[in-house]
Amino acid sequence: VQCEIAAGAGMIIQRVVLNSRPGKNGVPVAENFRLEQSTIPDTVQEGQVRVRTLYLSVDPYMRCRMNEDTGSDYLLPWQLSEVADGGGVGVVEESKHSTFAKGDIVTSFNWPWQTVAILDASLLQKVVPQLVNGRLSYFLGAAGLTGLTALLGIREKGHVTVGANQTMVVSGAAGACGSLAGQIGRLEGCSRVVGIAGTDEKCSILVSEMGFDAAINYKKGNVAQQLRELCPGGVDIYFDNVGGDISDTVISQMNQNSHIILCGQISQYNRDVPYPPPLPPDTEKIQKERNITRERFLVLNYMDKQEASVLQLCQWIQEGKLKVRETVVEGLANIGAAFQSMMNGGNIGKQIVSISK
Ligand code: NAP
Repeated sequence: VQCEIAAGAGMIIQRVVLNSRPGKNGVPVAENFRLEQSTIPDTVQEGQVRVRTLYLSVDPYMRCRMNEDTGSDYLLPWQLSEVADGGGVGVVEESKHSTFAKGDIVTSFNWPWQTVAILDASLLQKVVPQLVNGRLSYFLGAAGLTGLTALLGIREKGHVTVGANQTMVVSGAAGACGSLAGQIGRLEGCSRVVGIAGTDEKCSILVSEMGFDAAINYKKGNVAQQLRELCPGGVDIYFDNVGGDISDTVISQMNQNSHIILCGQISQYNRDVPYPPPLPPDTEKIQKERNITRERFLVLNYMDKQEASVLQLCQWIQEGKLKVRETVVEGLANIGAAFQSMMNGGNIGKQIVSISK
């Protein structure tokens, strides 16, 4: 009987499903995810492609997908006991679509968290490994959605002007977006870039490797005082990844007619508040009086600029002008732990999960 079930019952794969929800106000943990064995069909249908997963991305927005109601019309909730998904890169093993051939490297924003998958070709984009010197995981980070977020956030909402002697402050500065945003702010014309991050090691990397002028460890000392010393001309552009107290402190030191790039508000993601969370009254007063822009920014609204922007990012990477850091965890079984760690500041640069055979 067992033989009969095995024959034609499909290919055995590993996958990770949502095991439980942390609750809107809960802190997510690795146990919210579960590794299990499953099967996929033996045959690929017309219009489909079978891919082997190489790298998966874990990102803060996934916290919202762990809730029954994500609070966003563009984010679907993950369902209990169903496979989770997000950014992924892999290799084509078999294709029944003319765009893709065996051996192609492909990426998707909706890559299932499983070792091998059969996907509709419409979900996939082909990428050129040479653009990132073969570092395929970069297509999830610096040459993918993270890099696009940093670059397009700055170009669309930053109002950086070459020669205008502007100071940029970046929160969440040693993270995936933040570490790129500070460097891109400089490349686009800011004269001073200051980062805010959660450990001394992160601060030191920002200055020694990433070209930040200075960095503040927000878990130590007085952030407001350090900011005043490090940004004597005030803050012209604030690339905000975190929101909350850090952002209130930065906004209080922003100049007249300055700009917030509202990238994310991670300090609020384990709280049941709307997005973007409203500013406290004192901060809102400052924002209005000083005419500080704080427009919502969503990278997915600028996908018409994706191709040209990825080429720009890859050019900077190849020229050594954009330094890339990754924190890589091995194995699908560890993806929940990787997510938990990233949400708690355990990553430097982009958090990647590498899947080997
Ligand atoms: P990331 O910054 O690499 O990882 C999250 C980092 O946030 C952690 O490493 C931690 O670093 C910091 N953090 C966590 N809790 C914090 C808190 N309470 N206060 C201050 N810092 C905290 O993640 P990412 O992918 O680059 O994302 C950064 C932000 O960009 C997120 O808010 C995300 O939602 C947003 N985002 C927005 C878009 C868009 O289209 N608008 C696209 C992508 C990402 P520390 O050690 O410094 O605390």
